[in-house]
Amino acid sequence: AQKYHKVVQENRNLYNMVQDLKGNIRVYCRIRPVFRAETESVIDFIGKDGSLVVVDPTKLHKDGRKSFQFHQVFGPTATQEEVFKETQPLVRSVMDGYNVCIFAYGQTGSGKTHTMSGSSGGSTAEKGINYLALNDLFQLSNERKYIMKYEMHMQMVEIYNEQVRDLLAEDSSITKYPFASKSSFFSPFSDAISLLEIQGCSSDNEFALQNASMHHVVSITDVINLMKLGDINRAVASAAINDRRSRSHSVLTVHVCGEDVSGTTLNSCLHLVDLAGSERVDEAGATGEGLREAQHINKSLSCLQDVIMALAQKNSYIPYRNSKLTLLLQNALGGRAKTLMFAHVSPEGDSFGETISTLKFAQKVSTVELGAASKNKESNEVLELKAELESLRAALANKG
Ligand code: ADP
Ligand code: MG
Repeated sequence: AQKYHKVVQENRNLYNMVQDLKGNIRVYCRIRPVFRAETESVIDFIGKDGSLVVVDPTKLHKDGRKSFQFHQVFGPTATQEEVFKETQPLVRSVMDGYNVCIFAYGQTGSGKTHTMSGSSGGSTAEKGINYLALNDLFQLSNERKYIMKYEMHMQMVEIYNEQVRDLLAEDSSITKYPFASKSSFFSPFSDAISLLEIQGCSSDNEFALQNASMHHVVSITDVINLMKLGDINRAVASAAINDRRSRSHSVLTVHVCGEDVSGTTLNSCLHLVDLAGSERVDEAGATGEGLREAQHINKSLSCLQDVIMALAQKNSYIPYRNSKLTLLLQNALGGRAKTLMFAHVSPEGDSFGETISTLKFAQKVSTVELGAASKNKESNEVLELKAELESLRAALANKG
């Protein structure tokens, strides 16, 4: 067992070294399929190296043709498994004591929920990162059972208008565990019970949301049941307000405690975040509730941007406290934490403006990670020429 332990430890060290070399914030871009057959895609080129060229089919924008460079780009045909495969090492590092944050960014309808939660319909192929990641953690926990004992707890909250709501609150009318009756899922969602205060945390091991209900999970079935409950509570809450779903952030957190044979313990967490839509809301037209919403979304998304930029510049002050979202994710952004951003874009021409703005933000974030001497510092011109060269080569290869 000792020899086995040593090999596992060595593997783990190597593995984390590779992960660390890649830096702290990774950016994967994902482009969903075109849904309207008559629409031309804005995607001109996707390189295996993470390069991407978009063009404006309507020729209305000044940024008519633009190149970007990310760590990975997943095109419209990429499967959930392919996407997860590239995410798995990061997810697994939570079992080695790293805090990990994976978040999906992009305009409404660009595929954030598809990536994180999957699309309903049920077949395994459509399961999202949330399911695949948690399933993998249980698998890893089982693989390591002779050298490590793990315990996992799950929380799920929604942030809407700077209010944090427990999606797994133990309402008296909701059967907590193990969901004796199905109909209890549909019991009314009580705000009195589910609205939460949020504290900042002073150490990486502290839970920012100490008062959110914490559910011990021992199998993927437990997780599925809790995710269902969370989704239903979210649906119930959003039924009252139009578009609430796209205007709120949902955060699924898994806390991992581990103890190895020598008695050494670790505590870490994995945040899986489906962000509110990043589209700019026409504030001129919005009044009352609508305006308040728009300001809050802009606020928490722009706070997230501020935090990421402050981390990039290695500022001594990181403005985590400016929004509920960044406060909640504090221990998994920066420091020793590992962060992955999925930048989602819709390929239709009429989304071109939002697509460019998502890609520009994502590009800034990925430049962060690679630092000063990175290849991302290459001018857009060079990137564009490179991409063009590759696309010409591909065209030649196709002919040949
Ligand atoms: P968002 O959460 O960003 O608003 P959704 O994930 O709800 O967007 O996606 C919008 C629609 O597009 C959904 O019907 C979803 O099933 C579908 N969709 C998104 N991404 C993909 C994809 N990669 N492949 C197939 N369908 C997708
Ligand atoms: Mg969504």
